Amino acid sequence: MKLYKILLSGIEQEHPLFIEHFPICELSLSKSAIKSTLNDIKNGKLSKTNSPIEIMYNISNNQFLITDGYHRVVQAIEKGNKNISVNIWSTKYSDYYASINSNDLFFNPKKSSLMDTDYIWVPCGLCRGRGIQTEYEDTWECPPCNGAGGSWALQ
Ligand SMILES: [Zn+2]
Repeated sequence: MKLYKILLSGIEQEHPLFIEHFPICELSLSKSAIKSTLNDIKNGKLSKTNSPIEIMYNISNNQFLITDGYHRVVQAIEKGNKNISVNIWSTKYSDYYASINSNDLFFNPKKSSLMDTDYIWVPCGLCRGRGIQTEYEDTWECPPCNGAGGSWALQ
C-alpha cells in the first residue's frame, strides 16, 4: 500500500500510524520554531523521552506538521540522524495546528518520493499484532509497538 493512499484516507489522531524510520527531511519544520528550540536546548531544556514524535499530515497542503516532539527532532538533527520514529495521523483541515508559511520552512518542499513509497504493515513480533500484552488477569499496552500492534515498514 502506498503511504499517500493510507494518509489520504484520513487517520484519526487517536489511532495514528507508527512509522519507525521516517525521513526527517520530509518534515515541515518551521525555522523560527527550530530557533527557539535550539535556545531551549542551550538553556538545558533537553528532551528526556525517546518516544515517537507526533505528526499531523495536512492533506490540503501536503505538510507534515509536528504536533509534539520538536525537541526530539532538533536533537536528532544535531546528532546527524536521518530518520526518526513517528506516530502520524492525517486530516484535511485543522483549526488547531497552523500551517507553516513557505518562507519559514526549514527544508525546501520538494516532490517527495516518500508518498509513493510502498509500505507494508508488519505486526509486532511480541504481541503478534494485538497491541496488548497479557499475563494472568493483567493487560497492558505492548511496549515495543506502543500499543499499535505493529508498524508500517518499507517494503
Ligand atoms: Zn506489540
